[in-house]
Amino acid sequence: MRLSKLYTKTSKTIIAGEPSKNAQLLIQAGFIHKEMAGVYSFLPLGKKVIDNISQIVRDEMNSIGGQEVQMSIMQSRELWLKTNRWDDKVIDNWFKTKLANGSEVGIGLTHEEPIINALLPFVNSYKDLPVYIYQIQSKFRNELRAKSGLMRGREFIMKDLYSFSMNQKEHQDFYEKVAQSYLRIYSKLGIGDITVRTFADGGYFSKFSDEFQTISDIGEDTIFFDKEKNIAVNKEVYRPEVLQDIGLKEDNLVEKKSVEVGNIFSLGSKYCDSLGLYFLDENGKKQSVIMGCYGIGISRLMGLIAEHFADNKGLVWPSSIAPAKVCIVRIGDEPEVISEAEKIYTKYKNHIDIIYDDRNVRAGEKFADADLLGIPIRLVVSKNTVDKGVVEIKYRTSDKIELIKIDKISELTAR
Ligand code: ATP
Ligand code: MG
Repeated sequence: MRLSKLYTKTSKTIIAGEPSKNAQLLIQAGFIHKEMAGVYSFLPLGKKVIDNISQIVRDEMNSIGGQEVQMSIMQSRELWLKTNRWDDKVIDNWFKTKLANGSEVGIGLTHEEPIINALLPFVNSYKDLPVYIYQIQSKFRNELRAKSGLMRGREFIMKDLYSFSMNQKEHQDFYEKVAQSYLRIYSKLGIGDITVRTFADGGYFSKFSDEFQTISDIGEDTIFFDKEKNIAVNKEVYRPEVLQDIGLKEDNLVEKKSVEVGNIFSLGSKYCDSLGLYFLDENGKKQSVIMGCYGIGISRLMGLIAEHFADNKGLVWPSSIAPAKVCIVRIGDEPEVISEAEKIYTKYKNHIDIIYDDRNVRAGEKFADADLLGIPIRLVVSKNTVDKGVVEIKYRTSDKIELIKIDKISELTAR
């Protein structure tokens, strides 16, 4: 990607009327555009980050047997009446709208009911189970407060997975598989060492659910963290009897601020029963289907990672999700400099995500932008480096500048 062609530009000034630091930075760097409070569009660089996060999640979901779908966003009222979840008194943050004929429809805030409904034609027998279905899609919630940028949107991107099992054991095995898969996902995203599995309220269906909380001062959640065991308890369920139940000691726990980046839930058979999804076992006997649901906040992760790792120069992306791994900064417009920079860009651009700063602007501006955009590796090509047959390399997280031979670039980008 040539910076001279990228339609978005960075802004040197603070964005007015944006209370959240992640949105502030991401708007300034041209990754997102604010449509209204809690609603953001993803511009080319932001879309790359969302796609990179999504792909890491997708690969993991596929590896544990997930099948990807894309459900509709408009949802049928009749379906939700059957599980008694349509009423605003039951779920208070629904967006709903009316069709021309006056009937009401819901705008998807979660998808348990429609997913079950879409299984009805296909799941009848023990031979059809288990099934694991997921999607990566925008969700809509009328959140009361939307001051945290991408971390709490009224429109946001979620990965939601739903499991359908024949019995409790089969459900529990898969539930644990998802938990392990989530930990791998957070590691790949560069937040493995600060993300912890956390006991949380199980709601109607089970004693506990599992949240995945990223420890960060920017969080709005509070957890009590056992460093030794690497697990935590959400403040919402923090009580002596709970600690005893899960074998944690108060003395070993430290209070931390955190961001919920995912959660997994056992749902029992209530929703499937209400919507008439059953299966016939090997003896032809009608049985209930056991359901689980598993969410990951894709756009919340982008906001969290943006804000948590940022420094006073701007964004700092982990390499796995950065919009480009390398930023080539051309300094000067001597013919041999231009030709060398073009040569390097052309040689590597099909193997690695590169942003090439080929603009005719001051060196200082180019360096500031490379920092603001948060690209992990900066390569400088200048008259000086060309004369020496080297390029200058600097990592975003370090101030050290080194010189490497041009033919060493391929090794460098491989890591
Ligand atoms: P929270 O407790 O933060 O309100 P939740 O428990 O309602 O979230 P779920 O409905 O389980 O969340 O959604 C799954 C995941 O989607 C959450 O773990 C979170 O990472 C993300 N998420 C939930 N609400 C939002 C939102 N308004 N904006 C961005 N991401 C969200
Ligand atoms: Mg929650």
